[in-house]
Amino acid sequence: MAPRSSRQTGSHKARSLARQWKAKRRRRDLDQIHGDLRPDNAARLLHQEPDPDMPGSAQHYCLHCARYFVDLNSMKEHFKSKVHKKRLKQLSEEPYTQEEAERAAGMGSYIPPKKIEVQTQPLEMEESG
Ligand SMILES: [Zn+2]
Repeated sequence: MAPRSSRQTGSHKARSLARQWKAKRRRRDLDQIHGDLRPDNAARLLHQEPDPDMPGSAQHYCLHCARYFVDLNSMKEHFKSKVHKKRLKQLSEEPYTQEEAERAAGMGSYIPPKKIEVQTQPLEMEESG
């Protein structure tokens, strides 16, 4: 281990936090998002209490990418983006984790669907204008 200056403890905390985010495995993210897409979870995420610490006070959330946006337009732009479309594709191709598939197989006759329909969430706010 190389000795390091201990003066910059303030920035060290932020940096290790960023590294934790990067270290998250992508597969794990998709698993989690599948959970978020279940109707009860989705409803909760899309109708959060306003949180001033989050971008856009947590009122504009893309379920599929687990991202917050500052306003409705930013989110709409995001829905049209490659990143978002790629994510929808990823999610529809991998509806189950290996663990879930095995558990389902152990339950006998239940056959999990190979594909699930994954759509961009409806924009309810738009209709009330
Ligand atoms: Zn998205």
